Amino acid sequence: MTNYEEPVSENTIEWPYPIDYEKENEISADVLILGGGIAGCHAAINAAKRGAKVVVVEKGAVIRSGAGGAGVDHWHAACTNPCSKVTPEEMMEAVEAFGDYYYGEYGNGITCYILCRESYDTLLDLEKMGVKIRDEDDDFKGAEFRDEETKLMFAYDYENRHNIRVQGAEIKPALYKELKRLGVEIHDRVMTTSLLTEGGKQGARVVGATGFNVRTGEFYVFKAKSTIISMGRPSGLWAFSTELIGAQGLEEPNWTGDGSAMAWNAGAECALMERSGPSSGGFRYPSYGAGNCGNTWYACNMVDANGKEIPWVDRDGRLLKNISERYYPSTGQRLTLYGPNIPYELRGASLVPDLAERIRKGEFTLPLYADLPSMPVHERRAIFGLMVAHEGKTRIPIYENYTQAGFDPDKDMLQTPIAPPERAHMGGMGMGAPQWRELAFCSGGGPVINWDLRTTLEGLYAAGNQSGAGSNHGAAAATGRYSARKAAAYAKSAKEPVIDRNQVDQEKLRVYAPVKRKDGGGWKELQAGLCRIMQDYCGEHKSEAILNTGLEWLKSISESEASNTVARNPHELMRTVECFSRITSSEMVMHACLARKASSRPLNFNRLDYPEVDPPEWNKLVTTRLDNGAVVEGEMPIKYWLSAPYAPTYKENYEEHSEP
Ligand SMILES: Cc1cc2nc3c(=O)[nH]c(=O)nc-3n(C[C@H](O)[C@H](O)[C@H](O)COP(=O)(O)OP(=O)(O)OC[C@H]3O[C@@H](n4cnc5c(N)ncnc54)[C@H](O)[C@@H]3O)c2cc1C
Repeated sequence: MTNYEEPVSENTIEWPYPIDYEKENEISADVLILGGGIAGCHAAINAAKRGAKVVVVEKGAVIRSGAGGAGVDHWHAACTNPCSKVTPEEMMEAVEAFGDYYYGEYGNGITCYILCRESYDTLLDLEKMGVKIRDEDDDFKGAEFRDEETKLMFAYDYENRHNIRVQGAEIKPALYKELKRLGVEIHDRVMTTSLLTEGGKQGARVVGATGFNVRTGEFYVFKAKSTIISMGRPSGLWAFSTELIGAQGLEEPNWTGDGSAMAWNAGAECALMERSGPSSGGFRYPSYGAGNCGNTWYACNMVDANGKEIPWVDRDGRLLKNISERYYPSTGQRLTLYGPNIPYELRGASLVPDLAERIRKGEFTLPLYADLPSMPVHERRAIFGLMVAHEGKTRIPIYENYTQAGFDPDKDMLQTPIAPPERAHMGGMGMGAPQWRELAFCSGGGPVINWDLRTTLEGLYAAGNQSGAGSNHGAAAATGRYSARKAAAYAKSAKEPVIDRNQVDQEKLRVYAPVKRKDGGGWKELQAGLCRIMQDYCGEHKSEAILNTGLEWLKSISESEASNTVARNPHELMRTVECFSRITSSEMVMHACLARKASSRPLNFNRLDYPEVDPPEWNKLVTTRLDNGAVVEGEMPIKYWLSAPYAPTYKENYEEHSEP
């Protein structure tokens, strides 16, 4: 049985899979995991080890899917590794010193502490699966960043040794193999579309999910005692280009906000959706593929067009005399963290901060170059060969292609894009127009979670970026691992789930509507229109009137363009339903923006009608949720995880909750 229409033009490629939109598959699980990326895989492994029947549903293919599918080179907050000089508690203090009480880069307090406690354990788990977390082959014997006893290698802060250099290009295949070994049931190429709730009611216990196969179009009803959502966070709400989606960004093309939209529609309380920041809009160089001295390329020598070296300084502006000093805290400094907007207390070495000014005055000439040949051999090989090669999206596009094209780090420099002087050293990391935005790269908000990593809905847990955890591998792995312990324990004593047939039927009508139409627009036009709404009505400057107009436009696009979009095959159906998710995510963002009636620096949030920045009475989380279709606003203390009913310290809460 098929609803498939014949190709509409001679240029349309014939669909290569058998299509059966009418077929319905029913699958049962103790623990259902939606999104088989880093968090989802660690969750699946740990739930299976606890004896649960585990089902993973993945829109792509687990073996390579997700932001971590193409690799990882540095592992954050491995505070419990034997060489670390930083305890989890000290790391929490350091992160709090950011002054960003919303925990920008590191996620929220719960996920951040779980990261600090379990990040290294997840590496040991991975090592058992065959992932190289040490310099086993002694390629870097004698290097300053290597511990000779454990052969662990460190990045950024060689004194405190909390960030581990790993060889993670093959991490997903290793996780996939482990899922298979443990008998986890994997449904690749199935896009989940909604959460099912007891009695079909918003706000009730979650008892499963729906989805469809993006190749065959078959429908899936998943019935589960407990469910973990780990589908990343919404991206691509403001800027859209099919041509630029590939290697350029730090986002994952499958991060279309399905999980956030599903949780929202099911009635979960959400927070921090109002935080967004400028983005490249896709117009940047391939990640790590242009010369720079940050992140994976830290701390590469930089020279100007005449070969003149750019000096490095410590946080106090003192000139550093040698390369080694760049990797150590300055005199009297406890530790350093690497990342954007690091406060003075934690700031590591950098190029001279007035570089832009010096370029303007003619002291240095653009373009700049990353001068790999002048780096000591271990550092050079660590940057190009260890980091670039294992870092996400670098193995093939950068390491292999550049090498095959003749790039030799022993001889060649890599040019930095000619950008405004302020961005001259950044390697294509520059930002676009202010209305091209992304939900904050790190911790973009989403469902509120508690110390069990449970959302406000019974039976529904969240892990990885979906839980607002910091945008890093360690956090995804650690929260996946932790959420599985809780979800598996809940499943053991949970009532048998009962699916509400009406809820399933309604969802089928919604999902398949685009394949039932013959005339209408395509998903790309819908997506482009949606981005325009977000650019115009949820850009850099917001106000009640602008946001309300934006909501009107979102309603209008839902009722007109989205209700007329045609999908000619299951792939187009997936893209169309992703647009539906993005419309819902955009509504979530606009409602959250309306609920916060104050401007905020850490949230990158400007209200023209409430210009006061961070007034004390707004130092709180604003929450939003749906109740019978109506938006309900609420609030929570910023550090709700250390407020009543929780204990006042991270350690106490972790010890009380981390094991069932
Ligand atoms: C280029 C790049 C380099 C990076 N480098 C580092 C690094 O060196 N160190 C570091 O710590 N972090 C790094 N990160 C970040 C890190 O990879 C992510 O934080 C981590 O992978 C997030 O894990 P996750 O499980 O939350 O999301 P993901 O691993 O992306 O998993 C989400 C999964 O959900 C699936 N999905 C989405 N929607 C649906 C749906 N509707 N139904 C079913 N499945 C769905 C997706 O296909 C995906 O597989 C990097 C990221 C990128 C992109």
